Amino acid sequence: MPYNKIMKQARKRLFISKKTGARERFKLIKLALENECNTLVFSLNDPFFTSKNRNQKYIKLAVTYALNIEAGGRDLSLLVPRSMFLFNRDLFRMVHGRRKASHHFCATNPKTTNLIAERAYKLFDRAMQYTTAPRIFHFLPDEKHEDTWCQCPACRAFRPVEQYIISVNTAADVLAKFDRDARIMYIDFDLEPEAARVKPRGNLVISGKD
Ligand SMILES: [Zn+2]
Repeated sequence: MPYNKIMKQARKRLFISKKTGARERFKLIKLALENECNTLVFSLNDPFFTSKNRNQKYIKLAVTYALNIEAGGRDLSLLVPRSMFLFNRDLFRMVHGRRKASHHFCATNPKTTNLIAERAYKLFDRAMQYTTAPRIFHFLPDEKHEDTWCQCPACRAFRPVEQYIISVNTAADVLAKFDRDARIMYIDFDLEPEAARVKPRGNLVISGKD
């Protein structure tokens, strides 16, 4: 189904950082409601999805006002956890011949692709029951490091934005198995559509164009 047909109403979003405490969240949401916010976005490993305690005031507030719940943000590192660096260096980004744990990963390594699929499955599975349909997820590149991607011999053939789309496409395929109508928002930083050699999946939507 086309994306614009499934969105009945424009979503005005409040992204809530994982670092924001429960009391602060309550205040932020109240303020956002006054500004016609209708959607909350939590990181895929936020306590909102991981905690069993659903009695917190900010959660009740979201339920009372029937706010849309979306998941994600700058969550790419959840797909390839940096804690794996020590024993799985080839999953990570190469720069000047050396692997680095920081910022993104080696996008063309098939082992990375398998890991992304596996991790995306777990993260979507957990968030699915708490996100509201039509479901929207966000996978944005690391802030101020949009262009910081892998330079290994295989990845070098792809521009940073293409490596980014290769990675998000893998998550998009997993998401489609859970919910055909769900979408992932991504950024097409400095991408000329006709120049892109990596085509975004049909369930990817450019952030800010919904
Ligand atoms: Zn690479």
